[in-house]
Amino acid sequence: MENMGTSLERIKNDIENLSKFNSTPEKGCTRFSYTREDQEVKEYLIQIMKKLGLKIIVDGIGNVSGRLEGKEPNLPAIMIGSHLDTVLYGGKYDGVVGIVAGLELIRVIIENDVALNHPVQLMVFAEEEGSNFGVPTAGSKAFTGQLKLEDIKRLKNARGESYYDVLKRKGLDPDSIDKGIVNPKSIKAMLELHIEQSVLLERNQLSIGVVKGVAGIKAYSIELVGLSNHAGATPMNLRTDPMVAAGQIISAIPAIVKENGLSSSVATVGRIECVPNIFNAIPHSVKFTVDIRDVDNRAMDNISQAVKAYVNKVSANNNLTFKIEKIAVSSGVLLSEKITDLIEEVVKEKNIPYCRMNSGAVHDAAIIASITDVGMIFIPSKDGRSHVPEEYTPYENIKEGCDVLLEAVLRIDKL
Ligand SMILES: [Zn+2]
Repeated sequence: MENMGTSLERIKNDIENLSKFNSTPEKGCTRFSYTREDQEVKEYLIQIMKKLGLKIIVDGIGNVSGRLEGKEPNLPAIMIGSHLDTVLYGGKYDGVVGIVAGLELIRVIIENDVALNHPVQLMVFAEEEGSNFGVPTAGSKAFTGQLKLEDIKRLKNARGESYYDVLKRKGLDPDSIDKGIVNPKSIKAMLELHIEQSVLLERNQLSIGVVKGVAGIKAYSIELVGLSNHAGATPMNLRTDPMVAAGQIISAIPAIVKENGLSSSVATVGRIECVPNIFNAIPHSVKFTVDIRDVDNRAMDNISQAVKAYVNKVSANNNLTFKIEKIAVSSGVLLSEKITDLIEEVVKEKNIPYCRMNSGAVHDAAIIASITDVGMIFIPSKDGRSHVPEEYTPYENIKEGCDVLLEAVLRIDKL
């Protein structure tokens, strides 16, 4: 078994073939869940999995699983999962790499007659990007019972169609969603191979990132309200100007993060709106977002408390009123130490330059971590670019990631 490894040629073919299911071939790769391209790519993959003898299940939200039985069918499965949906004008590696890795690993296990004790289950999670209904990782959330039938009935896409109706129209059975919730005892561990989507590996000339944790998010919308007035006729000392206060708060955010967070903490003001937004009037109100992320939930809490306190202080000093609304919350997730150590051991033995790191982006693996031991493996993204047509990871790096994943599965099987 020493020389057993994945095939670069097959990995390359799979990725190229899957990327042909694309609704914007003129620009990058676009494949939203529940579109024709999504349906066709899944049918294509299901055909390949069937030929390999896998047992296929499609659940109520459109998650696809292909299962290779082990020697002991009653043992819990080792799950390999990721997604095939993309953002608008995205790339062809985000998500796809993890699915292709799982497929290739199953091929290698079959052609080498490796008799695993545990079943291996390849999972294609639906709607990871949240492109349709604004809920990222919807498929893995439904799989773990965090997204229920009542949520599916309430959520609507941009055309006003409910998630429930879209699933029905696509021939899926949304009423079975709650019944399809996985029994945590049926999964031994879950692994996800994913592109890094940042620059840390490339900058440090590393080939593998052993992921320790996945960052959570706390995002707020902050509105400061003052008094709109003539830009020429109002003396500086008689103004109640929310723009000046917004500028003061926004420029203080890096210092607030530094004082109250950890080195892993980040915060971003990505959106700003001003009313009436004309050049010759002092604004009536300014509304902006603050997006705070960290693996460490306490650090996120401390930063958001400090931001709120500062908004309060600056508003009081400037005679403004303010409103703070929560717009997104998810907890930071620490992955399984046992699995992370096992992956690190594999990488070290293979003499692959690596580091332990956190993921700033959310992944299906972080959702599955609520029910079982999860490990994640990152491979480099060229120039750190992702969710754009330029997204690229060399096939050699992908193969290396696949080989690490394969070896990790073989070792988890022995645990
Ligand atoms: Zn992804």
